[in-house]
Amino acid sequence: MADVQLVDPFGRRIDYLRLSVTDRCDFRCIYCMPENMRFSARDELLSIEELHEVASTFIALGVRKIRITGGEPLVRKDLNRLLSKLAGHTELTDLAITTNGTQLVEQAIELHHLGVQRLNISLDSLSRERFALLTRRDKLEKVLEGIESAIGAGFKRLKINSVIQRGVNFDEVYDLAIFALSRGLDISFIEEMPLGVVNSHDRNKTLVTSDEVLERLSDNLDLAPIVERTGGPSKYYSVRGYDGRIGFISPYSHNFCGACNRVRVTADGKLILCLGEDNAIDLKRILRDSSYSRDAMKSKIIDAMKLKPAAHGFDRADEVQVIRFMSATGG
Ligand code: SAM
Ligand code: SF4
Repeated sequence: MADVQLVDPFGRRIDYLRLSVTDRCDFRCIYCMPENMRFSARDELLSIEELHEVASTFIALGVRKIRITGGEPLVRKDLNRLLSKLAGHTELTDLAITTNGTQLVEQAIELHHLGVQRLNISLDSLSRERFALLTRRDKLEKVLEGIESAIGAGFKRLKINSVIQRGVNFDEVYDLAIFALSRGLDISFIEEMPLGVVNSHDRNKTLVTSDEVLERLSDNLDLAPIVERTGGPSKYYSVRGYDGRIGFISPYSHNFCGACNRVRVTADGKLILCLGEDNAIDLKRILRDSSYSRDAMKSKIIDAMKLKPAAHGFDRADEVQVIRFMSATGG
């Protein structure tokens, strides 16, 4: 099976894989998981060799960008072994990680050496009390030090991700933007998605749309839309006086599914074709079958593309569309 590419029924070429390496996390962000979250047993998770086999199969099917995520990917002890293996795939044009930043003081330089080009680092507040409320952990200092370590390590691109909630951190959007821009970083503001049942807040009341954030930022910053699309869901703006860009990820208010180029694989080996659907294909079962062959896995993945929906249905913030939490799906 040579030169096969992944194309879904809507003509969208899939060349981007988000690979989750763990569902565990050292935070319990209120929009992502409950305090008493139940994690998968370790033997349910794909081994490093299995994760690499999944990634290699996708690369053979034309995937060129991989983002490692979780849960918190940097709490997976043997992650570096996977990264070293991925570094051997010269076809990959982009290897990135999304992280909450708590391990970056110790790991940033090593990650950069291992070939990781870009990091997205989540940061929702610059206030210690609020940060502790949002993540249910008092670790703001550690994350801020981690961001400085990442800046020092020399990554090609660093981006801050901030989920904005009314009554929680909507009043901090300007401060967060300046925090990122003054350090030469990009920042994306994200609308909260209705993934998993949360009881800490009413999503219908806390949802802040990207237009509201844009309006608030425009009071103090001179923003101009960047026409060229990055292929991702962010809509970017340049900011007069700064190199960094401001992005908006608006799953609720501006559907971006028409340009979707990605699929996800969870840490326990489920292929998820859309964040907004519970449909999943069990790749672990194929991997652990005694008659496993890469061609069998390829056929299964090619077939699965038929199930990719045209669009998600995140049209009501308070209605849980998907019972999986973001940490289980791989954000
Ligand atoms: N632990 C890492 C982190 O926090 O960056 C990676 C995994 S996390 C699930 C990936 C991203 O998803 C984070 O930027 C987080 O803020 C975002 N996220 C989690 N739950 C979300 C939700 N319900 N709506 C929107 N974004 C969410
Ligand atoms: Fe952990 Fe990331 Fe979810 Fe926060 S958003 S609980 S850091 S997985």
